[in-house]
Amino acid sequence: MPKTLFVFSAASGAGKTTLMNKVMPGFPNIVYSVSATTRKPRTGEIDGKHYFFKTEKEFEEMIEKNELIEWNKVHNNYYGTPKFFIEQKLAEGTDVALDLDVFGKINFDKVYPQAIGILILPPNIEELEKRLRLRKTETEETLKLRIENAKKEIDFALSKGKYQHVIYNGDLEVAAAELKGIMEKYSSLKSSIQSGS
Ligand code: 5GP
Repeated sequence: MPKTLFVFSAASGAGKTTLMNKVMPGFPNIVYSVSATTRKPRTGEIDGKHYFFKTEKEFEEMIEKNELIEWNKVHNNYYGTPKFFIEQKLAEGTDVALDLDVFGKINFDKVYPQAIGILILPPNIEELEKRLRLRKTETEETLKLRIENAKKEIDFALSKGKYQHVIYNGDLEVAAAELKGIMEKYSSLKSSIQSGS
């Protein structure tokens, strides 16, 4: 059976992490692609688990050696998807989930057009700003940058993103039920339970 690639995209502050933490433990068969980034680790983030943390020079070498499926500069840092991980997991027959910015998704689609795109959006920009402030991971300057980027990303994603599913994360319970339904529809594990194998 062909394995499923899930691409998640969200504006920062859309509540993606909370939503995913609520729903995804129910799908333990899905592994997460670990991206490379030049962003500095946040408290609690582990190299090789949350990201492969790289210097600019190391990241640029990965680009030159064609080791990335796609990459993009987001909020002044490089982010990219290493080829080896996805190729290995698909070869092992595992469903894979990725977290890509909306521009990276377009490039990813060129290599894996079969990927299921799920876009998670805040109910509105005011709520997004409120959530980002509560998170307290940003300075005033990076917060403004993230909000401006979020507006651009949302416009771009809705007009050109080719997402099969858009979830507006206003009420967490409603959004979680919606995401669970989507995951059940495509996840290989669900299919194999249904077919009794
Ligand atoms: P954060 O720094 O909050 O972890 O992520 C910032 C942004 O980078 C998010 O929009 C996330 O979707 C995006 N991102 C994370 N990994 C990748 C990647 O491998 N490729 C691309 N294009 N974007 C990524």
